[in-house]
Amino acid sequence: MAPGSEKTALVTGGNRGIGFAICQGLLAQGFHVILTARSPEKGQAAVAQLSTGSNTVSFLQLDMDSDASIEKTATQLSQDISNLDVLINNAGIYPDNGASILTAPRELLIRTLNTNSFGPVKLIQALLPLLEKADNPRIINVSSGNGQLDGLSTSVPSYSLSKLALNGITILMADALRSRNIAVFAMCPGWVRTDMGGQSAPRSPEQGADTAIWLAIEGTLADSGKFFRDRQPQPF
Ligand code: NAP
Repeated sequence: MAPGSEKTALVTGGNRGIGFAICQGLLAQGFHVILTARSPEKGQAAVAQLSTGSNTVSFLQLDMDSDASIEKTATQLSQDISNLDVLINNAGIYPDNGASILTAPRELLIRTLNTNSFGPVKLIQALLPLLEKADNPRIINVSSGNGQLDGLSTSVPSYSLSKLALNGITILMADALRSRNIAVFAMCPGWVRTDMGGQSAPRSPEQGADTAIWLAIEGTLADSGKFFRDRQPQPF
């Protein structure tokens, strides 16, 4: 990227796993990265790990479960930056732990959809004024194959429903924001070696981050509303 043309990206759940790898990859591509995390300690530690040379990475505390935290982040950002080029909704939970669709308690369903689906809706709404001021704004929702119609799994019911909803949110947001020139994508990172994916997963966090980073740079309005894996559009 040419000097002075630095773009700004905000990543949720940037302190570990795929989110951290997305931050690292965007920094390498010349973005100014706003790494967000719900824990200030973990977020600051991640920023310290990424801050080398001319990298520009900053930290904001953001809990996707809290409207107050989302609003605070939006207010702070509007003071810090003039526009936001990329929003990556990466933060997520995978809390089913053996519950099936036949046993999942309401509390579990609400909790997972609250973080994985409704958090991204509220964050997009809050950051719209800053996104609208960018030249080619892009929103990337980190979804999952478990949210695809042929990938729903009864052994992770709340997670599957939350990612199915996130895919629906991607379609609705893309429709609502096309006239404002804002592109919205969903993507699956594959099965990735993180705290969530476990150590047997075949992909590194960097491999899992690749499509999100590619969409942040190359995603077009013509492809807005689509679901991607390995840089290719996939059926929902
Ligand atoms: P991970 O290692 O468990 O990391 C999850 C991240 O989300 C952590 O930074 C966590 O913060 C954050 N988070 C959770 N709840 C939050 C909240 N309320 N507010 C803010 N941050 C919150 O998981 P990962 O494997 O990197 O997953 C990243 C994304 O990829 C998720 O959306 C996941 O569903 C998706 N995905 C992963 C895989 C896989 O195989 N790993 C496959 C498909 C899709 P704390 O450190 O504070 O907990």
